[in-house]
Amino acid sequence: MDPLPKKIDFLAIEKMWQRKWEEWGIYRFDTDNHTKPVYCIDTPPPYPSGDFHMGNVLNWAYFDIVARFKRMQGFNVFFPQGWDCHGLQIERRTENEYDVKKSEIPTDQFIALCQKFVDKYINIMKTAIKQLGCSIDWTTEYKTMNPDYWRRTQLSFILLHEKGYIYQGTHPVNWCPDCQTAIADAEVNYETKQGSLYHIKFPLKEGDFLVIATTRPELIPACVTVAINPEDKRYKRHLGKEIIVPSTTRTVGIIADNMVDPEFGTGVVMICTYGDKADVKTVAKHKLPSIEVLTKDGRMNQNSGKYQDLTVEEARNSIVADLEESVLKVEAIQQEVGLCDRCDTPIEILETQQFFMKTRSLTDLVEETANSLTWYPRYMKTRLIDWAKSLDWDWVISRQRVFGTPIPIWYCTECGKTILAEKSWLPIDPKQQSPKIEKCSECGHSTFTPEKDVFDTWMDSSITCAVHSGWPDKPDKEWRRLFPADLHPSGTDIIRTWAYYLMVRHLALFDETPYKTCLINGMVLGSDGRKMSKSLGNYVSTSDVFEKYGSDTSRQWAAGGGTTGSDIPFRWPDVEYGWRFLVKLWNASRFVSLVLKDYSPEATYELTLLDKWLLEKMKKTTI
Ligand SMILES: [Zn+2]
Ligand SMILES: [Zn+2]
Repeated sequence: MDPLPKKIDFLAIEKMWQRKWEEWGIYRFDTDNHTKPVYCIDTPPPYPSGDFHMGNVLNWAYFDIVARFKRMQGFNVFFPQGWDCHGLQIERRTENEYDVKKSEIPTDQFIALCQKFVDKYINIMKTAIKQLGCSIDWTTEYKTMNPDYWRRTQLSFILLHEKGYIYQGTHPVNWCPDCQTAIADAEVNYETKQGSLYHIKFPLKEGDFLVIATTRPELIPACVTVAINPEDKRYKRHLGKEIIVPSTTRTVGIIADNMVDPEFGTGVVMICTYGDKADVKTVAKHKLPSIEVLTKDGRMNQNSGKYQDLTVEEARNSIVADLEESVLKVEAIQQEVGLCDRCDTPIEILETQQFFMKTRSLTDLVEETANSLTWYPRYMKTRLIDWAKSLDWDWVISRQRVFGTPIPIWYCTECGKTILAEKSWLPIDPKQQSPKIEKCSECGHSTFTPEKDVFDTWMDSSITCAVHSGWPDKPDKEWRRLFPADLHPSGTDIIRTWAYYLMVRHLALFDETPYKTCLINGMVLGSDGRKMSKSLGNYVSTSDVFEKYGSDTSRQWAAGGGTTGSDIPFRWPDVEYGWRFLVKLWNASRFVSLVLKDYSPEATYELTLLDKWLLEKMKKTTI
């Protein structure tokens, strides 16, 4: 055996091994092996929106450590990798990258650019994952933007439809005026911001007035009632009376509602459709009419009278100025504001026609299932359960975008009947192809309008456990070898999306949990103490670390830093410690290689007591 060289040329060594692993295909799942027990990892398909940073290194190193450990233990490990391609962020970044506007070029051209953009970033991320030395089986690779993947998303939609989990309806939804699409609760981040609480006089019809307190005076034209707490002695006598909505000629009734906090503001609140989720609840509870004053791009509409076409901000200033004499006080307060996950714009609530999946009816089952799984760390399961319980609305699964899996539906132009694609037509883009029927079964007409909306990206990525197992193409017996996944690795930031959507979706589709164990990693924090992310500019690119110290050092950093579920800061000294450790290991191995110059793997040697002790230690570590 040749002694190891004095200096580690890690870049050359790592490359050499990574190439050999691929050549030998040693990380491929062995389908034909039925003796080894199977271990299936539900690798999350990342969003190919940018570069691979040290936060991603932590995730993938975690997955890979488990994969390699399980192989050492004798398992037939299935370690797949896919890419979650669609989404608004991709549309935006494509616009920036190629300096185009999606509204100004033909849709198919824009979609082609999105695909080009995604492929470019998949390549960058794939190279980084390979450089990190992850033992992924690359023959399993999938992209959710490929029509063959659409087929699976669309099929799951049809199956859920058959099982009664899908409905279309006009409901209030979270709406991002900037992205101009409906978004799910999971895509709304709540932040406490400095705001103003306006105390405004509302004249009573019989004379005198009440003072309401609101943070959103621009919604006064949408006021449908004024509410007080039934226990509030100050206002009890006004119950059922009429009050005039300032800046309009309307009067509304005064109602009692327990949700009004007498301590907040003046104890009198106006209810608008829709200021926030509390308003939505009150409107539904008291069967109040709905007045919408906002347009989809976040401006005031015709129902706001003279404020029409103003932005929310302009309307707020304008109405406060107009009501000057009625505004008694402006108080500074800390208020919770819902922001769009993608662009940080304050979300609004709009009533729009959307597709929904019934998820709230599954909450008890989600809780029961989460309790039956193994969690690392254990307390993280409450995050999933609390999230499921906190959801007020079903999951809105349609999006007003273009780069996404098409919703396989048409409408009869004559009678409006909904035509759902048949399973054998999939994959299908209703905008490109007509339904494969002669005529509408309801009215006999034969012209159809396609559904233009696409699915939420989570509709694609929440069936991965079934998809990478081989559903729906392989026979049940085969794909169920890999289903449910043994391990679901997730970050603390995506429990409410990745872990939750997978869970509800598979429970609804297959009446079964998609995974058995959850391994939760914390976030890697940048130098400013915030979660490392490209958009915050506080990230350390993997190439900086790989080129300086090699990927083994990065893996050592990931393995040694922090505990499951806890955040860890990225610090160069920690990586340097990993580097020194690696050099020590190299020197020790080099020393051994010098001593074992004459060693031949074919020969038999008598083991000394020390050898046996070391081998025993090694065995115990492995198993
Ligand atoms: Zn947005
Ligand atoms: Zn018809």
